[in-house]
Parts: sequence; structure tokens; C-alpha cells
Amino acid sequence: MDSSNSADSFNIRDYLRLEMFPHFLCPGCGHGIAMRALLWAVYELDIDKDKIAIVSGIGCSGRIGAYVDANTFHTTHGRPLAYATGLALARPDLHVIVITGDGDSLAIGGNHLIHACRRNLNMTCMMLNNEVYGMTGGQASPTTSETRYTTTSQSGSIEPVFDACALASAAGASFVGREVTVHTPNLKDLLRDALDHNGFSFVEVLSDCTEVFGRKNNLGESPEMILSQKSKMRPSSYGSANGNIVDEPFRPTTLPTGILTHKERAEYGDTYRAHVEKISGSVKNG
Ligand code: SF4
Repeated sequence: MDSSNSADSFNIRDYLRLEMFPHFLCPGCGHGIAMRALLWAVYELDIDKDKIAIVSGIGCSGRIGAYVDANTFHTTHGRPLAYATGLALARPDLHVIVITGDGDSLAIGGNHLIHACRRNLNMTCMMLNNEVYGMTGGQASPTTSETRYTTTSQSGSIEPVFDACALASAAGASFVGREVTVHTPNLKDLLRDALDHNGFSFVEVLSDCTEVFGRKNNLGESPEMILSQKSKMRPSSYGSANGNIVDEPFRPTTLPTGILTHKERAEYGDTYRAHVEKISGSVKNG
């Protein structure tokens, strides 16, 4: 770990815009835990707040950036990766972090996600997966489990569910991982490794929407929902199976956690700048 900061002295208040509080998240929402893990990882890596750019989309996940004391951009629905691509290309000195949700990144923004994975530009995408469009009233998303009730699946969802990590890995992401909020230190470690990775890193966080998903499906309060998520997890086989998780695009019954894919590939920003230099030389010489 490239860190000079110890876990004991992490104080999340140092990374928050306290004037923005109270926050808007519902009691028990998992997104706050994910935000804490992310900022803890930033702290451990000792990243200067002025060198962080958080780009978020629309939805409850997208609001998180507003509470972080860093450079933040709240963008349009499904497009944070597109904004982040321009930013990361123009400012390679920044740590560009995209915060998005399952609807934002896998439905309207699905196109941007697969191409961000394909390009391998240096940025980290934290996708908060709570299986629902929380902010807009609880509609089904591409990760709503089959049989779950939402405002657009009143008799239970019948659609197959994307395995977001398998999708990202198949599309070429060089770092892919998954964690559940109840394992907060593990999530922090995963996000730290993702932030440290040179290339496109994708982290799926299994979060919980207590308000419009949990209540509609009788899943209990936050502790029950968190324990239910935990019961579906199994440790990653990465290391013994070379991190190859892409056997099918749909979500299996139990989910591997931890680092699922980790490979070295040419980082797109380096390739782009070398290409620009090369063609500039040929224009001058031509
Ligand atoms: S609606 Fe759901 S996702 Fe949004 S803040 Fe409330 S609990 Fe969290």
C-alpha cells in the first residue's frame, strides 16, 4: 500500500462539506456506507483533495458527490462516464472517480460503460447497485432480481439480471471488483486498489435501498437487508482462476466478492497522448 495514513486517524469529517448536512439519504440507505469506504480509501492513499474529481450521474447515488469536499460534477442521467472521459483526458493529473447507480450506468448509461471499459482510460467507477431506481420512485432497473416487486414490476420482475462485473470484464475493464457494504474495511481495500490501478477500474458495491425497494419487498430494515446481501456472497476465486469471471452475462445465485479481474493493459490516455505527439510531428514534417 502506498500510504502514509493509518486507519486509526481517519476522520470522515475532514472530507465532507459539512455545510451541506443534513444529507438527503433515507435512514438505513447503504449509499452512505459506500461513501465512507471511498473516502477512507482516499485517506489511506493520502490523495490531495484538490486532486480528486468526483463525477456523478442522476439518482440517489449521484447526490453523494455533493457532500464530498473535493472537485465535484453532478452531471446528466447516464452520462457521468462521458463527462469523466473528457476530464480524465484533459487532466491526467487528477484522480477521476465516477459515482453511479445501477440504472444510471447499466440502463441509460450502459453504452458509456462498455466503451469506458473498452478504452481503459485511467479512472475509477464506483457503481452502487441497489436493484432499483430509488430517487425516481422505485422503478425496476437492469439489476432488479427476478420476482422482486417494483413500481414497474407490480407482479414481480421477470427479466434476467445483468451481472455488472461480468459485463465490465467482458468489455475489457482491466480492474473489476465487487463488495457488499457490510464488509466496509474490505470495500475500502478494494476501492483503494481500484484507485491505485492505472487504467479503468470498475467496482460494484451491493448497496441497499431500504425505502422504495426494501419496504415494497418486505425485506425488513437495514440490518436484515445487509445480512441478506451478505448471505449471497462468496469470496472471489481470483488468483486460483486468473480472475476470469465471464462465463455468462447474467447474475448467478451467489456472487463472488473481492478483486475479480486485474490485468495490465495500455492506458488510453498514454496511448492518446503518444498518438497526438506522433501525428503532430508528421503534420509539422509534412
Ligand atoms: S430512496 Fe432508496 S436509494 Fe434513495 S436514499 Fe432512500 S433508501 Fe437510499
